[in-house]
Amino acid sequence: MNADLHCHSTVSDGQFAPTEVAARAHEGGVTLWSLTDHDQLGGQREAREAAQALGISYLVGVEISVTWANRTIHVVGMNVDSENEQLLKGLESTRNGRATRGVAIGEALAAVGIPDCYEGALRFTDDPDMISRTHFARYLVEQGYAESTSDVFARYLGDGKPGFVEHRWARLADCMKWIRDAGGEPIIAHPGRYAYTPVEFSALFDEFIQMGGRAIEVVTGSHTPDQYREYADVVRRYGFEAPRGSDFHGIGESRVGLGQLPPLPDDLKSVWERWL
Ligand code: AMP
Ligand code: MN
Ligand code: MN
Ligand code: MN
Repeated sequence: MNADLHCHSTVSDGQFAPTEVAARAHEGGVTLWSLTDHDQLGGQREAREAAQALGISYLVGVEISVTWANRTIHVVGMNVDSENEQLLKGLESTRNGRATRGVAIGEALAAVGIPDCYEGALRFTDDPDMISRTHFARYLVEQGYAESTSDVFARYLGDGKPGFVEHRWARLADCMKWIRDAGGEPIIAHPGRYAYTPVEFSALFDEFIQMGGRAIEVVTGSHTPDQYREYADVVRRYGFEAPRGSDFHGIGESRVGLGQLPPLPDDLKSVWERWL
């Protein structure tokens, strides 16, 4: 089983349309795939049809932006019903603030001498309600302000940098209820990316478990190999299950391609077993 249960398309901040992502997953040897666009299920039908045509098993997925302890975390909803009303409404309300935040990011960057970024970023997405820092990053790279999108985050868009704008996303409890009520499994995405203290991390995992959470990402393109080991230990300690996913966004923006991650450590229970 080559599972890749985390990646993005042009429906959110990926570079390729769902059908092209499917083709790349197939090329990468993926046999169980999920497209997990940010806060949006609009690509699911196309992804499922493309997967079917290629003979790949498919799970409906979404990556939801959540604010917990004043920081943004991402929670993947795996195997959700893409027609569930409450989930669709919840995602819509989560997306709602993006355009306003985008304008504020544009103003913040203008204040440090980089004009017209909101308009520029909009050229990189079809849907203003989906405008993401990734679109700003692509514009800044195009304009020569940075070498790469990760360089843009390090210098302009990351936490505390001049273009960073505080934002409140969904509440963890709400997000978990939307996912559960839509028949899905909530999974904490790439915990290694969050700047929490050890005390905050244990509070997050305890709260997640109390709310019925039982899986976190370990082997993800958004972790380093050292972090695979670190979070495999967390999984063992808490009795979690784990998925596997590249977090592929596009060429030059992702550490690994679709289907290219190492397998989960042998002793870890995979989250996808229950759906096969
Ligand atoms: P947003 O949801 O608009 O706040 O944008 C978050 C997105 O920015 C994430 O989903 C990643 O795709 C991207 N991102 C966040 N941090 C980095 C980073 N350090 N390097 C490259 N991309 C990043
Ligand atoms: Mn992204
Ligand atoms: Mn993420
Ligand atoms: Mn992602």
